[in-house]
Amino acid sequence: MNKNDKIINELENKGFKAKFISINSIDRIKPELDKVQSDNPFVSKHLSSYFDEFNYDINSLMKTAKSILIIATPDPISRIGFTIDKKKKNVIMPPMYLYNSSVKNEINQKNISRISKSLDNILSNYDYKSKKINLPAKLLAVKSGLGKYGKNNICYIDGLGSFMWLSVYLTDVPCFDEVWVENINMDKCSNCNLCLDNCPTKALSRDRYVLKANKCITFHNESEKEFPKWIEKSNAIIGCIRCQIVCPLNKSNSRNIVDISTFNESETNQILNKVPLENFSKSTLKKLDDINFIEYYELLQRNLKLLL
Ligand code: SF4
Ligand code: SF4
Repeated sequence: MNKNDKIINELENKGFKAKFISINSIDRIKPELDKVQSDNPFVSKHLSSYFDEFNYDINSLMKTAKSILIIATPDPISRIGFTIDKKKKNVIMPPMYLYNSSVKNEINQKNISRISKSLDNILSNYDYKSKKINLPAKLLAVKSGLGKYGKNNICYIDGLGSFMWLSVYLTDVPCFDEVWVENINMDKCSNCNLCLDNCPTKALSRDRYVLKANKCITFHNESEKEFPKWIEKSNAIIGCIRCQIVCPLNKSNSRNIVDISTFNESETNQILNKVPLENFSKSTLKKLDDINFIEYYELLQRNLKLLL
């Protein structure tokens, strides 16, 4: 077993799925994304600012980088309780949002730090190191062969379905595998349209796998801008779960819902009244941190209002 395989094995023993890809692939990522934008003008119109945040300057982060490592971390659906008129109202948070962070805040994000530490511990046994980098994780997961696209434009990993979070690291572990897998859609999708049929806004279409971002609830409830008028209800505190929950590939883990926090009536009212973070008690701040809404607190009140 070579060192790459040993490292992957050790990551899998800790519950992750991962794949190395050669550092040379960095030159192929941007042209691939540029093509997605030129083929789909609405992608560049609505998502170009998101694409602009990717960092292709390896040398600024790690001059000795020899490989890119893509890590999938399992993340179940979360449930958060709020209290209104003495009644508890549970809301759902789809996978991935417990790890949501801006690039500048990643260093303070406890769940991301946990992954980085696990990786560092493994790599240090081999005298290697890593550095987290903001690159298109979903695209790299597919190109490395770690994942495949579903018709819902979401990345799926064997054994995890789409209930996971992807992160990308530069490492100085040599990798000579020049794999660059053509975009692969899951076999299961060929006879299935469940995600398309369950999308309330018709953001997914049969003729292409690229999402109409401006029609997707996720695009709007992750943004700080006002909701468009046509959004009258939602199914999650952030994001949207409907095209993932019906997918047969998520069947085994869709009932695995983890309760992460409950806000009492006074705390719920404070959130709904947008009380500034500095006025919360330590225990409420801890709850907000547990649901990962400190950085995106501004979104919490607006999204919660729509749900309630
Ligand atoms: S619901 Fe069906 S079509 Fe959609 S991603 Fe899953 S398997 Fe593919
Ligand atoms: S996240 Fe929701 S709105 Fe967006 S494509 Fe999926 S089902 Fe449709």
